[in-house]
This record gives sequence, C-alpha cells and structure tokens, in this order.
Amino acid sequence: MTSAAVQDAPVKASPFFEEKVLWVKHWTDRLFSFGLSRPESFRFRSGEFVMIGLPGEDGGKPVLRAYSIASPSWAEELEFFSIKVEDGPLTSRLQKIQPGDTVLLGKKPTGTLVLDALKGGKRLFLIGTGTGLAPWLSVARDPEAFSRFEKVIVCHGVREVDELAYRDFYTADIHDDPLVGDEAKAQLSYYPTVTRQPFERQGRFTDLINSGRLFRDLGLDGEKFNADEDRIMLCGSMDFIKDMGALIESHGLIEGSNAEPGDYVLERAFVG
Ligand SMILES: Cc1cc2nc3c(=O)[nH]c(=O)nc-3n(C[C@H](O)[C@H](O)[C@H](O)COP(=O)(O)OP(=O)(O)OC[C@H]3O[C@@H](n4cnc5c(N)ncnc54)[C@H](O)[C@@H]3O)c2cc1C
Repeated sequence: MTSAAVQDAPVKASPFFEEKVLWVKHWTDRLFSFGLSRPESFRFRSGEFVMIGLPGEDGGKPVLRAYSIASPSWAEELEFFSIKVEDGPLTSRLQKIQPGDTVLLGKKPTGTLVLDALKGGKRLFLIGTGTGLAPWLSVARDPEAFSRFEKVIVCHGVREVDELAYRDFYTADIHDDPLVGDEAKAQLSYYPTVTRQPFERQGRFTDLINSGRLFRDLGLDGEKFNADEDRIMLCGSMDFIKDMGALIESHGLIEGSNAEPGDYVLERAFVG
C-alpha cells in the first residue's frame, strides 16, 4: 500500500456522541436521574430509547445499554432516569457520574412508545413500573400528547413509596412548564400505586384494572378500557408487559407499531 493510500483511508465515524453530564439527582440508593448535553444533530421522537454508556475500563470495549430518553423531543438537554444495579456492568459505574463527566450517546434513537404508533382516541394511558416511568417523562411533556388526547393519565407502579420519583413533578412542577403547563393542569392526571408499603393506593395495575378501581378512581365511565377511545402505552418488566398486554387485549384493544398504528404499544424497561 502506498503512503497516499494510507493517508486517504476513510476514518471510521464513531457510532457515539461523547456528551457532558450536566446534572445528577439521586432519588434513592436504587434510582437516579441525570442530564446530558444534546448534540445539535441528535433528533428523536418523544418516547424513544437510545444506547448510552461509558468507555471501557483499562482500554476495554465501551459498556452500553438501552435507555429511554426521559426528556421531550423539543428539549435542549437529554434527561435519563436510571436504576442502580450493584454489580451491573454499566450502572455500578454510571451511578457515580458527576457534572462534567463524559457519557457515550448512541446516534440512532428508536422505539415503539411513540404517539405515531397509536391511533387517535380520547384518553392516553401511560402505564409504567419502576424506571418504566422514563418514557412518560418524555411523552407527557410533548404538546402533541395534549393536542391528540383529551386526557393524559400517567400511571406509575413501584414497590416502595420513595421510589415514586417525579411525584412532585407530576403533581406540581409540570404545571409551571412554559410549553405544556396549562395543558397539564387541565388534561393530565397522575396515578401512582405502591405494592409493598402502605400508601394512599396499593396494588398491581392488573388488580386495579380487574377490580375496576382504576376506572372508578379516575372518574371514568365503565370498568373496562374502551377500544374506541382509550389508547395505552406500557413500559416495565417482561412479566408486567406480558400480563398487562394480555389483559388489555381481553378488553378488545389491538397492539400497534410504527408501521401499523394500533390501540396500545409496549416496550420492556429492562431485560431480565
Ligand atoms: C428498550 C429498553 C429501554 C431501557 N430503558 C431504561 C431506562 O430508561 N432506565 C433504566 O434504568 N434502565 C433502562 N433499561 C435497562 C438498561 O438497558 C440496563 O439494563 C440497566 O441500565 C442496567 O445496566 P447494568 O449494565 O448495570 O446491568 P444489566 O446487566 O443490564 O442488568 C442486570 C440486572 O438488573 C436488573 N435490571 C436492569 N435494568 C433494570 C431496571 N431499569 N429496573 C429494574 N431492574 C433492572 C435486571 O434483572 C437485569 O438482569 C432499558 C432496557 C431496554 C431493553
């Protein structure tokens, strides 16, 4: 090979942006959130996920995992809501990031928890457990959610009360949001439930739906989802997704996708 050929060999573009950590907030010893700078060319639809990670240790390969983007598509920075797994290859290290550190950000956001994958309707239920709340932080701050639906209902299920991260956000702070504050005041409901500690509402979503309590609590007509009017997004563990998907289908709703919008869509919040 000539030296010219060596010089002209194309430089392989990195599949990742290297972004700065802007802030970190620890909710509990199992949960934290952080903000990253957003590259100008990085586009996504509210509700999508992307690979994020850290460079490998001692020159090893980078460690990357899928993460829902918790900020809406219009935001200047990117927000993430994360678990801390004690011996997790990524989060054992990620939980120690500080403002100014660098995090790798994939260039290809994707996913099915997007408004485009749902047909029109009256009520949008965003139902998630644990860090499965993350995509709703994005979708429920997107003006399109409020223009397409009369009501947006964020349902968050956790084991313990202090895992209700973003409770203050949904009950108060979002009302001051310059873009969707007025819509949130008029159209957004927040519906938390806790399974392993006393709380104003307890139990799993499948039980709250089967007993009709969810519909009564929200002042809705009937005790089932209505396939003509209700649209649903689901995000949580594999078991949650499976049980909820089957339950929702038994109410007559049909799963949608980017290619063929439907009545509900789902995504796993983690593998395991
Ligand atoms: C589409 C998609 C979107 C995701 N979005 C998020 C997100 O927004 N926030 C987030 O924290 N994680 C999210 N995850 C999970 C994430 O990809 C990693 O699994 C997580 O960051 C832990 O990485 P780790 O390398 O530390 O441990 P891993 O080796 O990846 O996981 C170790 C074990 O920890 C448990 N675990 C992993 N993630 C979670 C979780 N989120 N909640 C409860 N238990 C978990 C599982 O039992 C898993 O087997 C998502 C996963 C997928 C597939």
